[in-house]
Amino acid sequence: MSGGDNLDFEIRPNPAPVAAAERDALLVNPGFGRIFTDHMATVRYADGKGWYDARVEARAPISVDPASAVLHYAQEIFEGLKAYKMADGGVAMFRPDANAARFAQSAQRMAMPQLSEGTFLQSLREMIRIDQEWIPQSEEGSLYLRPFAYASEVFLGVRPALEYLYLVIASPVGAYFSGGVKPVSVWVSPDFTRAAPGGTGAAKCGGNYAAGLSAQAEAIENGCDQVVYLDAVQRKYVDELGGMNVVFVLDDGSLATPPLTGTILPGITRDSVLKLAQRAGRKVAERPVSIDEWRDGAASGRIREAFACGTAAVITPIGVVKSPDFEFTVADGGPGSVTMGLRKELVDIQRGRAADPFSWVHRVL
Ligand SMILES: *Cc1c(COP(=O)(O)O)cnc(C)c1O
Repeated sequence: MSGGDNLDFEIRPNPAPVAAAERDALLVNPGFGRIFTDHMATVRYADGKGWYDARVEARAPISVDPASAVLHYAQEIFEGLKAYKMADGGVAMFRPDANAARFAQSAQRMAMPQLSEGTFLQSLREMIRIDQEWIPQSEEGSLYLRPFAYASEVFLGVRPALEYLYLVIASPVGAYFSGGVKPVSVWVSPDFTRAAPGGTGAAKCGGNYAAGLSAQAEAIENGCDQVVYLDAVQRKYVDELGGMNVVFVLDDGSLATPPLTGTILPGITRDSVLKLAQRAGRKVAERPVSIDEWRDGAASGRIREAFACGTAAVITPIGVVKSPDFEFTVADGGPGSVTMGLRKELVDIQRGRAADPFSWVHRVL
């Protein structure tokens, strides 16, 4: 079902874009996911025809039939990546080919047609080109790109849909956590799990997020910022947060992180951090880490730091871990030096301030 051909996008510039002065005012403090650019990219799919009608046009509401399959059975996938203003004034994306590959994997898991890597990358390049004035210049700012696809077929039967819509929207963003890089507190949910073996944990689909909202609400009620999920079978091993992977720093300077067994999302930030650490001579173990190991390790000093990682927040230290039965602090609760060092190393590569040893930076402008 993969779309082998790379489509050309027809460009229809927005006839009434936001005025420059208004746009600049919005870019001063954009927050996360509240403000959107002037355009969107769209590509349609129909069974037997493949992907067609690739376009960049004015961002506008889309009409959705009440019987569209996605509204009933949640056949939907998405991606998230950022375009950065580089130190030299250019613009680049970070590892967009990895997002393309993961989007194809998610499509396969959700029985959706795959978009070719070429069309996926081209949709992002066209969006960046046409909306480049929306990229914040600030240190923490970037243009968050959100490609997604959903079952648009008008049909209530339960089977993979025969029609889909792929879109890209773009949102200028500041820092993900208001208040900058400060440690987050995480809630170990006693009741909820995120993904079971054989489920959709490794696919980036909206359904995973819908299923996590009750747990997230529970975390907030208990004074925590995020949920940390344990494995669904033994309720013992750390999987990940709702939208970020977890990495531990041990007292010998090595890293440990849960393995990709199908229940966690294969994060591109996770992969990048592991590769950078390995390159710097750190040992990296992809192995199960139990919540008991974390609690005991935090008490003994064996686990010195813990952080969450993902595109939106990059790398965020985890300070406090709380459950109905216990509460503990990782080290002194502040950002650890290894965590902050890896964060700086990664951000410097993304911004073109440091060498790019793995050719991760994909220049657009
Ligand atoms: C997107 C996502 C991540 C992080 O992936 P990145 O590629 O690093 O942005 C981690 N966990 C979940 C559940 C996600 O949806």
